[in-house]
Amino acid sequence: MSEKVKKQFKTEVQQLLNLFVNSVYSNKEIFLRELISNSSDAIDKLRFKAQTETAILGNDTEFKIQIIADADKKTITIEDNGIGMTFDEVEKNIGTIAQSGTGDFLKALEKSKSNSSLSPEFIGQFGVGFYSTFMVADNVILVTKSIDSDKAVKWESSGDGSYTLEDTEKETRGTSITLHLKPVEKEEQDFTKEFVIKEIVKQHSDFVPYPVLMDVEKQEPLPETEQMVDKDGKPIGDTTKTVIKEETLNSMKAIWLKDKKDVTEEEYNEFYKHLSYDWNPPLTKLHMKLEGVTEYSALLYIPSKAPFDLFMRERKHGVSLYCKRVFIIGDCKELIPEYFRFIKGVVDAPDLNLNLSREILQQDALVRNIKKNIVKKVLSLLSDMEKEAYEKFYEEFGQVIKEGLHTDFENKDKLADLARYKTTKSEGKYVSLKEYVANMKPDQKNIFYMTGDNFASLVNSPHLETLKDKDYEVLLMTDPIDEFAVQSLVEYDGKKLKSAEKGDLDIDKPDDKKKENHEEYKDLFEFVKNALDSKVKDVKPSLRMKDSIACLSANDYDMSAYMEKILKESGQGAPNTKRVLELNMEHPVMGKINSLFGKDKNDTKLKEYSFLLYDLAVIGEGGKIENPSLFSKQIGELLNSVLA
Ligand code: ADP
Repeated sequence: MSEKVKKQFKTEVQQLLNLFVNSVYSNKEIFLRELISNSSDAIDKLRFKAQTETAILGNDTEFKIQIIADADKKTITIEDNGIGMTFDEVEKNIGTIAQSGTGDFLKALEKSKSNSSLSPEFIGQFGVGFYSTFMVADNVILVTKSIDSDKAVKWESSGDGSYTLEDTEKETRGTSITLHLKPVEKEEQDFTKEFVIKEIVKQHSDFVPYPVLMDVEKQEPLPETEQMVDKDGKPIGDTTKTVIKEETLNSMKAIWLKDKKDVTEEEYNEFYKHLSYDWNPPLTKLHMKLEGVTEYSALLYIPSKAPFDLFMRERKHGVSLYCKRVFIIGDCKELIPEYFRFIKGVVDAPDLNLNLSREILQQDALVRNIKKNIVKKVLSLLSDMEKEAYEKFYEEFGQVIKEGLHTDFENKDKLADLARYKTTKSEGKYVSLKEYVANMKPDQKNIFYMTGDNFASLVNSPHLETLKDKDYEVLLMTDPIDEFAVQSLVEYDGKKLKSAEKGDLDIDKPDDKKKENHEEYKDLFEFVKNALDSKVKDVKPSLRMKDSIACLSANDYDMSAYMEKILKESGQGAPNTKRVLELNMEHPVMGKINSLFGKDKNDTKLKEYSFLLYDLAVIGEGGKIENPSLFSKQIGELLNSVLA
């Protein structure tokens, strides 16, 4: 037997513990949900393993989670006959290595900078469940025996920076966690009280698929032989006695296997809460049963709010796979495409091959068929939604739908129908591509769009002036994913998507004058190009603008300005693509610059004006100019020269 060892918590874990130890958070009762859910996971793991290694169960085949409360000692114990942990596992899981969730949790907490974020759903989203015990306990003892070890391990801590580990005795497999409760403060719940525990389990753990048991006091009628009676045979004194009975506190309902008509709205919402820890009711749900070759039941929910970690790389998916109520795996990426990662729910497939490892799950024909089917159903659920509800959904999850546009080639058309954009004409409202096409002008050949990082500068962009003048609508795209989505989309309803800042706009030219202009101004353009040598690859007359003087454009296959910005900001180096400086030769200023050029090609002002034109183009698209103070000085001088 090894000696008792004392160890320090890793810094991150200790930070987290301090948070819990000093918590003033009012929903402290969720520690119980966390422990029950850990126990349930441990039984899931054992059960899954026992599918192929039946011997590991021994005689202990009735899975259960037991709660034992002791009001005198001020303790509450949660016990399970799950898979247990070895010495090394305890060290790894509890205390030493911060669970992947711990770091994220602290980061997210830091971001929000307030303790009010210590809400139940906030805690539940991370793998920090166990530590929440220190909200209510000043000492925690965990005793566990793994199926892989003859010895048991005892872990103990007061949450004060260190914990101890030692070998111990335990007869049965599984884990027992005893909390020495802090003194109950005014208006706080006493977690040794039967009715308190019952209520918490009902509220937070009702759908846990294993019985949560507790010994409860019950009044029973006295058996006749024990009943005192008077001389007439009538009972006197107590007619009942207090007995201790084991009671199951949760309903364990697998509502996903039930018929829709047998599930109430309240049960649906409760189950959603159980799955997601999200206290907002779901936006909508999909409950279905498919029979035939591909047989499965599914209960899937779409949350009403996007989780804060929707775009974090490590985030988990929300769908668990079951086989006839037996949990197989959670976080099942194999069932749901990446872009539907916000869906929460359960899929139960009775014909699943239980020998499947996670690695080969993806290749399993049944799993693949289920996935295909689910995608189809969810897509039609979304497209059948009422406009208002759908827009609410889109506000939260639109970005991921557009991610699908970029990644799911098979469903591209359906996803394109689900995409919504704000436009130059929509006054902040969403427009579908279908609506856009229906509103196209008779002579309009393409669907025009423009990408950028904010709506305000896009809507006033010089690039759009001619398009607006022709009364063409332009889709304004402000999500980084739009750049990728639009490249995958290519066309809709036979109409090409065309960037307003790239290549030839392919619109009917009002006249041929502009071509002549080009010849007429050839020397000037050459001059400006030379002056700006390092910045632009060409100087051209523009068809895009009406009132603005200058803008920058790219060739059809070049990166857009926004794309370059996204890549640079994400730390992936982007080539500095030189763009084309387009000048509006219809603008009087250009005529004046040209006549100055005609008079004296060596006028020093000309070079200065060239830079100014370039800076105007950059500012016009909401970009940052290289030398703002110089720009400001130049404008000052210009103002001075025009003002009398
Ligand atoms: P999470 O459960 O979210 O991973 P916890 O801090 O609650 O985070 O638990 C850390 C790990 O400790 C779990 O992932 C699991 O491996 C292990 N563990 C916790 N409770 C039990 C238990 N009752 N039985 C077996 N293992 C457990």
